[in-house]
Amino acid sequence: MKRLTVFSPLNAEYEEMETPVAQGRYMLVKVERAGICATDFAIFTGNCSFVRSGEIVYPVRFGHEWSGTVVECGPDVKGFRAGDRVYSDSGISCGKCPKCLAGRYDECRHIKSVGTVNCWDGCFAEYMYIPDFNAYRLPDTVSFDEGALIEPTAISYDAFRNVELTDRSTVAVIGTGAIGMSAAWLAKYLGAGRVVVIGRTDSKLDIAIQIGATDILNNTRIDPVRAVKDMTDGLGADLVIETSGSGKSLVDGIYMTRKDGKICSLSFYERNLDDIPVDHLVLNKISLVGGAGRFGNPQKVAKIFEENPVKLTPIITQRVKFDDMRQFIIDATEKKFARIKAMVQFD
Ligand SMILES: [Zn+2]
Ligand SMILES: [Zn+2]
Repeated sequence: MKRLTVFSPLNAEYEEMETPVAQGRYMLVKVERAGICATDFAIFTGNCSFVRSGEIVYPVRFGHEWSGTVVECGPDVKGFRAGDRVYSDSGISCGKCPKCLAGRYDECRHIKSVGTVNCWDGCFAEYMYIPDFNAYRLPDTVSFDEGALIEPTAISYDAFRNVELTDRSTVAVIGTGAIGMSAAWLAKYLGAGRVVVIGRTDSKLDIAIQIGATDILNNTRIDPVRAVKDMTDGLGADLVIETSGSGKSLVDGIYMTRKDGKICSLSFYERNLDDIPVDHLVLNKISLVGGAGRFGNPQKVAKIFEENPVKLTPIITQRVKFDDMRQFIIDATEKKFARIKAMVQFD
């Protein structure tokens, strides 16, 4: 089988590997679609806090957003058979520790992240090798494209934890990457009356409207804090979701959050930030929280993909054949062309 591996920063090559034979509770799954994420570009360039901290170790068999078809099941696999369309958790549990043996795979302390830190071999390859306990069947009406969007959307889903939205709620989303877009899409589905997407690129903001945003703001031309306040009788948004990774945007986000409101960051920042207006947070009783992938979120997102008549797939701005993927990442790194989600196809 063929795999694209980053051997060292800026050095990605295809490698030919032996295709695993399914054993025990493990399955061999043909990858159908794989999304390329900002983290994948960061692994490729080496410009990433996880590389600097030594949590990501080269060579990296990267890729963590995917969907596929089961090809072969080990003799002990339960609940799957060849031909099933599947996706997986973004962490693979060990299957051997006391927690795993008790069926609490989410509490395993030996989880390996697919394609990133403490790496389980990722999905930029013809096949994935995964255990049945971290795999889930894709609903029949959910496409492979949508299946590969489950992982980033499951990160966005975390921003809505313990949040009740009504048609009177305003959610503001900063950033128009896949996380920002999926957050806006979820906000609408989960009942927010107003979903404001804030970004720098008009072509991406137009896509935000297609997937359910009610308002868009280009923050290169408009002061987003004033604009969100103007839309909400001076109160601010009930929930702000920061996905851009810009310190300035995080501060803007805090100032556009209403009293007793919540701002959730789903982003990584290049460095720790000094200029967070802490007194403003305190006086206005604003909750500043972080969100990330969580066990259980992918299945909830898959169900929403099944139910939501508005498709998230317009955020797929590029399609790349697996054989062309190496050149694509090089070009995308050099030219920085506008993209939201590039989707790798294996057929
Ligand atoms: Zn990702
Ligand atoms: Zn375990």
